[in-house]
Amino acid sequence: MHVAVVTGPGSVELREEPAPEPGPDDLLVEVGACGLCTMERRLFLGEKPVYPVAPGHEVAGRVVDAGPAVAGLPGSPRVGDVVTVDLLTRCGTCSACRRGRSALCKRPQGGTLADGTVSMGAGLAEYVRVPARQAYATGDAPLEHASMGEPLACVAHSVRLGGMRAGDRVTVVGAGYMGRLHLALCRLLGAASVGVVDVSNDRLADALDAGASWVGTPGDAAAHAGTQDVVFVTAGAPGALELALGLADDAATVVLYGAFPKDLRVPVAPDAVHHHELSIVGVYSQEPQDWRTAAGFLRSGVLAADLDRLVTARFGLREVHEAFTLATTQPVYRVLVGG
Ligand SMILES: [Zn+2]
Ligand SMILES: [Zn+2]
Repeated sequence: MHVAVVTGPGSVELREEPAPEPGPDDLLVEVGACGLCTMERRLFLGEKPVYPVAPGHEVAGRVVDAGPAVAGLPGSPRVGDVVTVDLLTRCGTCSACRRGRSALCKRPQGGTLADGTVSMGAGLAEYVRVPARQAYATGDAPLEHASMGEPLACVAHSVRLGGMRAGDRVTVVGAGYMGRLHLALCRLLGAASVGVVDVSNDRLADALDAGASWVGTPGDAAAHAGTQDVVFVTAGAPGALELALGLADDAATVVLYGAFPKDLRVPVAPDAVHHHELSIVGVYSQEPQDWRTAAGFLRSGVLAADLDRLVTARFGLREVHEAFTLATTQPVYRVLVGG
């Protein structure tokens, strides 16, 4: 089969690789669509120089084979089902996994292809093998939507750990793809309002079209100071935490979703956290229950219109270079590869 390998900055090629064989507990999935995420962009731009590498972790496709231990098992996806797949290692043995926090599994992630190339998902391929417990059927959802299972699970995780409830006044800082998924999910879950803050007027206009209650630049957001119950920071830029704390009402939660510069330090007033019962919550990746939630939303179709707006383009596997080029040279939401 073919698998896409990034061999250096601006360079991606298709390589031959033996098709994976499913073990007793595995499914073999014919990839229908794989999204290009921040990791793929950073690899292609040379910002994360790990080469050669087979990326691609936002995968959906059709089950074409099932190992004997899971074939026909109630609840396990069947041959022919479209699934969204979780390609993380969840060892079940480390201290994080034992606490049910497998998003933080301490076992090294990823593996290698037959020729030793580092795999970070290797979902830009014709097939992937996945433990059946990490594949989630998405019913009649289009493959483009099913491939959004991983980021949607991350956002379900964010909303869950942030404790967002119906009736909450919500702000999302950052109107990129992840910000837009937060907007969609919080609206669906009954937020009283969802404001969106970004520095790009184009993205703000898109967010307003997609149903944001209000939009504004970080400067404009001062009009909403002290009024928000949950603030999701999806763009970890300097100043974003201070902005979020400024928006927080009493008993608010600030959720730090996006990555920040590693060496950034921010002064926080501990007495304000105490007196106003503020929570600052870090969220990272997703857990199996978030995948189940995400797959449930995908299967129900309730987010279909929101997800349609976020598909920027879809390319065949043979056009993977064009896909990376588009994803790294223009503002995009999601560029998909496969099929
Ligand atoms: Zn991703
Ligand atoms: Zn673990």
